[in-house]
Amino acid sequence: MKTIFAESVPGRRAPFFESDAPAAARMLPAGLLRARPPRLPECSELDVVRHFTGLSRLNYSVDANFYPLGSCTMKYNPKFTEYVAGLPGFARLHPLLARLGRGAAQTQGALRCLHEAESLLCGITGMEAFTFQPMAGANGEFTGVSLMAAYHRAKGRARAKMLIPDSAHGTNPASAALAGLEIVNIESRDGMVAPEALAAYIAEHGGDVVGLMMTCPNTLGLMELHLPEIVALLRRADALLYYDGANMNAILGKMRVGDAGFDVVHLNLHKTFATPHGGGGPGSGPVGVSARLLPFLPAPRVAKRKDGSFYLNDNLPQSIGAIGPFYGSFAVIVKALAYMLRLGGEGLERVAEYAVLNANYLKKRLQGVLDIPFERLCAHEFVASAPEGLRALDIAKALLDRGFHAPTIYFPLIVRECLMAEPTETESKQTLDAYVDALREIVEQGRKDPAGLAAAPLNMPTGRLDETAAARRMALTEDME
Ligand SMILES: *Cc1c(COP(=O)(O)O)cnc(C)c1O
Repeated sequence: MKTIFAESVPGRRAPFFESDAPAAARMLPAGLLRARPPRLPECSELDVVRHFTGLSRLNYSVDANFYPLGSCTMKYNPKFTEYVAGLPGFARLHPLLARLGRGAAQTQGALRCLHEAESLLCGITGMEAFTFQPMAGANGEFTGVSLMAAYHRAKGRARAKMLIPDSAHGTNPASAALAGLEIVNIESRDGMVAPEALAAYIAEHGGDVVGLMMTCPNTLGLMELHLPEIVALLRRADALLYYDGANMNAILGKMRVGDAGFDVVHLNLHKTFATPHGGGGPGSGPVGVSARLLPFLPAPRVAKRKDGSFYLNDNLPQSIGAIGPFYGSFAVIVKALAYMLRLGGEGLERVAEYAVLNANYLKKRLQGVLDIPFERLCAHEFVASAPEGLRALDIAKALLDRGFHAPTIYFPLIVRECLMAEPTETESKQTLDAYVDALREIVEQGRKDPAGLAAAPLNMPTGRLDETAAARRMALTEDME
């Protein structure tokens, strides 16, 4: 694909409208003006439309194809939420308006949206309060572990160890390390946290433990079966429990993490609540807390007065400070609110039911095609291994040629030749069956013609990439000199 600069022809123009307004150049001091005009591409309107339409067709998207990328919840997000977030009363607000004289009155609706979205998320998770400042899941993790550290600091303790199971998403140890904590790896047994291993560690080092970060159902798609014991163990050491809520799609309306004993949770609005995930954002990773962590939440917080009006409360003396600008990704929060209101409690529960049903249907149908390491019922996703002699990478590339996005591969690290699929609730049985057929065909091809499989993809804009070179030596400007 050429850049737009390669399509430039000197003198070619798109429609142009004359204006009576004085040229900006006449109002600026000479020292601030550039000596020569910028070298912009010179194209007709049609050149530009074709160029960008062509680029957009290189994008892989849920609007076009099935996207079972495990741990990412690439579900279809209904378009009405985009419409709601685009209403001028939301889209044209300036984030500082709430702070300016009459602005407080003009932003009551926006503040009310934030307040209502917060109380709905509290209802879903059983937490006391949420902050919307974090911009993504990982940013929420950093916020959450900082809150946990602040809790111990306020009690005069210098605890520094964060326990993280070996099946955790890589962002968990990264966020804890960024918050200055020391990571302790907890090995899993049968794909779950083993309470004995945890008990042994806590017996020896309990006084140093900030808390435990759990993902539940975990990244193997398995529900933890020892949750009550794990919660009790941590409680006894006055250590806190973090819930990585990226897999919320599996438990919406079925389990409230606050009731289960967790103190802090992040949600990924760009997974579970109606914003597409991927494409570089914007995202939103709100963090909910139990009463013990409430005093440490980032400032400001949207609060409600007795007369029903809303204001920004900055008076939070124990707050860990600001984590992100203003109030978070406002449009993403508005979309989540519209989605929750439209689906209602019952609809959200059905999301979890269909997400889990689809994953179990797919897992059952793939028995005999791929190796399935855990026979138990799965949650909203499951892991499989490439059959002996085949590689997960080759299977993933061959899926692209057949019109499917690949599942997540080689993660979690504890599963051999791992393919981790999350079909989501929005896919039909027909789509899931077509995906199974494609995988069966690929595995058969791999047995008969391994070299052919290793050459896939053949129908994509690029074949196999040297991924290291693609990341380290990016050529973004070759046509621009
Ligand atoms: C996606 C994900 C994260 C990180 O969330 P981002 O929004 O991508 O930063 C953390 N944990 C799990 C289990 C995830 O799937």
